[in-house]
Amino acid sequence: VRSKRGYRRVLLKLGGEMFGGGSVGVDPDVVHSVAAQIADVVRNGVQVAVVIGGGNFFRGAELSQRGLDRDRADYMAMLGTVMNSLALQDFLEKEGVPTRVQTAITMGQVAEPYIPRRAERHLEKGRVVIFGAGTGMPYFSTDTAAAQRALEIGCDVVLMAKAVDGVYSADPRTDPGAKLFDEIAHRDVLERGLKVADATAFSLCMDNNMPIIVFNLLTEGNIARAVNGERIGTLVST
Ligand code: UDP
Repeated sequence: VRSKRGYRRVLLKLGGEMFGGGSVGVDPDVVHSVAAQIADVVRNGVQVAVVIGGGNFFRGAELSQRGLDRDRADYMAMLGTVMNSLALQDFLEKEGVPTRVQTAITMGQVAEPYIPRRAERHLEKGRVVIFGAGTGMPYFSTDTAAAQRALEIGCDVVLMAKAVDGVYSADPRTDPGAKLFDEIAHRDVLERGLKVADATAFSLCMDNNMPIIVFNLLTEGNIARAVNGERIGTLVST
């Protein structure tokens, strides 16, 4: 899949926490810099779909530990991902990149509903499609939304943007001997009990041969490197 020319259509998964720049809400400087990186690859003809998390606003599981009903808390958290999606849309359009937001929870004033075939048409026309509101279902995650959308709209790869360099043999923050993998098979990730995405997202990718590249978003230019098929981060494939 990782040809010299790189990928044709990618699904970029961004964690919500990055969007907050370490606090609750959206840090416009972070969103601006991510948008500029995405704009760069779109101008080179790559089709980019994006799923953003919501950890900078709420996580349903955390709210429910503090007394909220889990389902409602998950819906609140999904709405947070829509705010992130709109922020990214804004900065992408300021970069001159046409975008569409499609949400899994209908909200016609701010976004289209999720319509996979329409999303594909947008991508073919060079528009960035941002998928908001996760899967629209409580008890799921935006990692799972990313895996599912990537499969349904025919992406070549899921690009998991993180604040670390890739998949390690152990937690690099606590274990100085932790080794960074260049490549690893889906199966080995499971057997070694490593974490790439949550279990539902990961098994969707594994069962359907969807490669995942885990890479560090904090290194400027890494989105372009990943899209171009340069060997950065960790490639998880079968
Ligand atoms: N969420 C959900 N269903 C989905 C996607 C997300 O219920 O399909 C909720 C869930 O509460 C989750 C939160 O939205 O914790 C934010 O998403 P996620 O934790 O994936 O964000 P990230 O960690 O990537 O910022």
